[in-house]
Amino acid sequence: MIEVTLLGTGSPIPDANRAGPSTLVRAGGQTFLIDCGRGVQQRLTGAGTGANALTALLLTHLHSDHIADLGDVIITRWVSTFTPDPAPLPIIGPPGTAEVVENTLKAFGFDIGYRIAHHADLNSPPPVEVFEYTDGPVWDRDGVQIRVAPTDHRPVAPTIGFRIEHAGASVVLAGDTVPCESLDALASGAGALVHTVIRKDLIDAMPMQRIRDICDYHSSVEQAAETATRAGVGILILTHYVPAIAPGAEDEWRALAATAFDRQIEVGDDLHRVEVHPGVCAKPAGS
Ligand SMILES: [Zn+2]
Ligand SMILES: [Zn+2]
Repeated sequence: MIEVTLLGTGSPIPDANRAGPSTLVRAGGQTFLIDCGRGVQQRLTGAGTGANALTALLLTHLHSDHIADLGDVIITRWVSTFTPDPAPLPIIGPPGTAEVVENTLKAFGFDIGYRIAHHADLNSPPPVEVFEYTDGPVWDRDGVQIRVAPTDHRPVAPTIGFRIEHAGASVVLAGDTVPCESLDALASGAGALVHTVIRKDLIDAMPMQRIRDICDYHSSVEQAAETATRAGVGILILTHYVPAIAPGAEDEWRALAATAFDRQIEVGDDLHRVEVHPGVCAKPAGS
């Protein structure tokens, strides 16, 4: 079984009740954090874990809302790991990730120096190991396999989606993207697809052109549902709600998805948890 927890279901627009984009995936005793938007660590705590328990950090792209708390994750993991010589945190993302991580460590350079000076058992900066990929297998450890494929969030590029597999169960994390063939292929036959969505019907009615601009590089709820149907996934998990779901309007979002996808649809608040079991996808892709 793979367990998916929506840590942050918000977007770049600050919301009192929704943290920034972030998802937790637990599989085969390993814990993966996918993106690290604002407030991610409060939600990690709410999900019963913490930065020091992460197996790896996976980044779909380098938009600020998806990496806002990268420094906090790296620093907090460092200061709350008490074993000597801890293994570096693997950070897997698209090209550009190494530069972002390096510059984040630079931005926290004073803090890192203070802590090394103050604590006898902290002798070196936070250990991290960055891997940049756009396509193919990226992880194969203790029964968990991960591969990535390019998505289409242009002009933000490159961007990637992740497919995590464990013991016959599979979960795909699309990140921000418009529908594209490489995502369809990555998600083909997956147990669950976690997809960021925007309500184009609501955004298109807003007066600011800068807000309306976002429609051209995101999937609407219906488009995410169409992707799920084309790929033949078992469960569609919506997140990154733009605009934030109005209180009591979850069913409206679910109904929009149901116009294009007739299987299990999950819409929820931060910390909403979904279990993905092997064989959940019984329908052939495209049917
Ligand atoms: Zn984005
Ligand atoms: Zn986003």
